[in-house]
Amino acid sequence: MYWWPATDGIYTTKSGYWLARMGHVRGWTDRFGGDRAETWNSIWNLDGPPKLRQFVWRACTGSLATFGRLQQRHVRTDGMCSLCNEQQESIVHAIFFCSNVKQVWDLSPFAELICKAPCDSFFELYEWMKGKVGSSELLTFVAYAWATWSYRNSVVFENPWQCRDVGVLGFLRLVKDYKSYATAVNVCPPAAVSRSTWKAPSAGLIRVNSDAAVISETSSSIGAVLRNDQGVIVPARVKRFMGKPPVKVLEAMAARMGVQTARELGFSKVELESDALSVINLIKSHKIGKAPVDLVVDDIRSMSMDFESFFLFSY
Ligand SMILES: [Zn+2]
Repeated sequence: MYWWPATDGIYTTKSGYWLARMGHVRGWTDRFGGDRAETWNSIWNLDGPPKLRQFVWRACTGSLATFGRLQQRHVRTDGMCSLCNEQQESIVHAIFFCSNVKQVWDLSPFAELICKAPCDSFFELYEWMKGKVGSSELLTFVAYAWATWSYRNSVVFENPWQCRDVGVLGFLRLVKDYKSYATAVNVCPPAAVSRSTWKAPSAGLIRVNSDAAVISETSSSIGAVLRNDQGVIVPARVKRFMGKPPVKVLEAMAARMGVQTARELGFSKVELESDALSVINLIKSHKIGKAPVDLVVDDIRSMSMDFESFFLFSY
């Protein structure tokens, strides 16, 4: 079990207080502080999708559910790897050295490096690799790791991928496409969009917050930020344009941009939060109108059909 001081990964005075009260300060410094803080930070700065970062984080903290770990926790009596039946299943074994995934690595650009890497824990291996390769290669490296772990899960949960190598390529592509997407949009720093009253959405949901502003007589801007249940910013997008449409239209356009971003990134459970109550009510109303704002709202409604669930609220 690990403990991360604040949901957004930022160490605050308040979380420091709780850490002290819970006697965790030493544990925090040993684990996340000192020389290693940079390595932990690098995980949250990986360019890939949030699920990839969560995977790397869990692998580094040793909290992926391998059979070896379940045995330690007395959930299972047997800690052997169910794929090869040759060794105890540690995280490093499952991801890198199991005979079922080793070939993936042998054919990867990291084959030689992995032979030389320390293999006591995923964290050691990740930290070592980070020192050997550039940030874009490090991203490819963790994409491979994510793919082999996912392949392992597909076999363990008895729904194996039809073709392992095609599956691995799919993961590499997913991570690469996400990176080019994030580079194409304007990513603004978290501080610029954070709200002190912001509460994280429920598990598995993506919260879209949208905002609009009239900058001057001749220009306006709209913004949207997407966050997951851990408060981690997925992407944020800001757009400026000439003109000064009515505020209601502007708010609707901001909401549409947020919903569109969530859809483009393939999220399926989405909630939209806007401070423009009138826009939220309009989306809910199912009213078909011909005013500019109705057309924008119509786009939001039709895009939201692609989601598994879609909630709306205003604050
Ligand atoms: Zn194995």
